[in-house]
Amino acid sequence: MNAAMTLPSTFPICRSVAALRQYVGEWHRQGLRVALVPTMGALHAGHLSLVARGLHLADRVVTSVFVNPIQFGPKEDFAAYPRREAEDAALLAKAGAHALYAPTVDVMYPEGFSTTVTVDGVSEGLCGAFRPGHFAGVATVVSKLLLQAGPDVALFGEKDYQQLQVIRRMVRDLDIPVHIEGVPTVREADGLALSSRNAYLSAEQRSVAPTLHQTLATAADHLAKGTAVDTEVAWGTSQLLAAGFASVDYLEVRDAVTLKPVSVVERPARILVAAYLGKTRLIDNQAVVPA
Ligand code: AMP
Repeated sequence: MNAAMTLPSTFPICRSVAALRQYVGEWHRQGLRVALVPTMGALHAGHLSLVARGLHLADRVVTSVFVNPIQFGPKEDFAAYPRREAEDAALLAKAGAHALYAPTVDVMYPEGFSTTVTVDGVSEGLCGAFRPGHFAGVATVVSKLLLQAGPDVALFGEKDYQQLQVIRRMVRDLDIPVHIEGVPTVREADGLALSSRNAYLSAEQRSVAPTLHQTLATAADHLAKGTAVDTEVAWGTSQLLAAGFASVDYLEVRDAVTLKPVSVVERPARILVAAYLGKTRLIDNQAVVPA
């Protein structure tokens, strides 16, 4: 942490559910609206755009940083996932957030923890097909975070579009009294979506990575004009492989809300991709709005 990122002594870091509830409870008693921004840390400008939107929609913003073990598969990067709490706290304070909630794994999943929240339908296919149990892990931790904090609004990035739809469905199904706000993806100047995992890319891989967004943007443009989904998927996949992506987990076009497959775009849809650059799995997606 450099000198310019010193943490103000007044910036609260809550380690327990009780401490978090004390802050949120006091804000609610004062009649203030509270926003929650759940993250796994290693914060970048994408996360901070969620905080900025939260400050617009609410009077107080609490950000959680929790690297959630149950949403990682056994061969995924849980142990290696970047952890930078001091920097994260300083960035949040500078961005105007009001508190950080940083529970340990023991606080979130105490001995004997036995409950899983699963959301059928929207969790299936796309990342759900390649990361078994991932969305159950996400739904479980997000339902806990929402119950722990009791915010009026919670913000999630469109960058993880399937996750956003899973959470929207879960909140409706379980009558959780919170507004879910989706926030547009923040990108580098060359179009690459900001992600904590971009740090894993070599210089050469980094130069190839923007092809992901460019391919989606071109395919979305064609699809909006009525091209068949199959044609664009075949074209897009060959573009990515030719550019240097090692493999494509999926490149699919789905209904924007239900995430059901579509063959021609007649209603708002989404084109979504997951592809490997070397060992790094990148995801992205783009709106397809019929002309
Ligand atoms: P993560 O820490 O990766 O779990 O992300 C925490 C939240 O930030 C999720 O709601 C993500 O969708 C969101 N997010 C991640 N990257 C971006 C981005 N580039 N632009 C906007 N939101 C993002």
